Amino acid sequence: MPLDLDPATREALLTRVRFCRDLGLTELYRRSVDPAILAQLTTDSQEAPGQSQNAGVSGLGSETRESIDQKQLLGTPSFQQPLGERVGDHEPAAALQLIRDEIGECTRCPLHQGRNKIVFGDGDPAARLMFVGEGPGADEDAQGLPFVGKAGQLLNNMIAAMGLKREEVYIANVVKCRPPGNRVPEQIEGDTCAPFLFRQIDVVRPQVLVALGATAATWLLGARQPLAGLRGRVHSVRGTQLIVTYHPAYLLRDPRQKKEAWADLQIAMKELGLKLPSKG
Ligand code: SF4
Repeated sequence: MPLDLDPATREALLTRVRFCRDLGLTELYRRSVDPAILAQLTTDSQEAPGQSQNAGVSGLGSETRESIDQKQLLGTPSFQQPLGERVGDHEPAAALQLIRDEIGECTRCPLHQGRNKIVFGDGDPAARLMFVGEGPGADEDAQGLPFVGKAGQLLNNMIAAMGLKREEVYIANVVKCRPPGNRVPEQIEGDTCAPFLFRQIDVVRPQVLVALGATAATWLLGARQPLAGLRGRVHSVRGTQLIVTYHPAYLLRDPRQKKEAWADLQIAMKELGLKLPSKG
């Protein structure tokens, strides 16, 4: 039976659905609609016109939320199935664009307040090698592209040393908006934004991921560990091999560690079957 929700209730429920989906919760719509609950829902929304949309949705019990018919709530095509399934039907470039569209002018975490541009990602959507950094800096925030400042120049050099071009790899960050003063992202910020990174990884499906620094390693591995204990070996993340190395910004501060970073990159090269430099 078609459900005739008033616009405010409908928008509030859509907001809730989007939020749950962003958290990766896509199993909320299994049961068919219960007419009695829907009638109560409509009555409640009409009796409390002054409530904010979010407050109205927060007040719904889990039974009510789970009982709402998916077809009635998910009125626009983009909500008709989980993003992970939708992007799977597309070429990588189109699938990445869907994710970017999904992010929109994001205000999901506090980092939106200080950003100029969202830094989504850059490079070959079907790259065999993907780098993951921490978050945008000032240059990236201004241009909307990852790793375009001094650290980016160093990363470009690292990529070239591997015998690759920057446009042959894919580059993204844990958070897509610049943390104030380039601080490390807060837990809530990383937790809120990282699901978009995971979706990018699932689309690109690189053969090898390289985590640049401890923050990227923490969110990719799901646990905070000292970088020293993570480097020098191959991890497995989302069906992809993961190598952990230093962030280029750290290497700019302590160039002595470049040799160590190069050793890490050579592990990645080996996994990719790239020609290693001959020892001279
Ligand atoms: S950092 Fe990510 S979750 Fe936070 S506002 Fe930016 S795009 Fe949204």
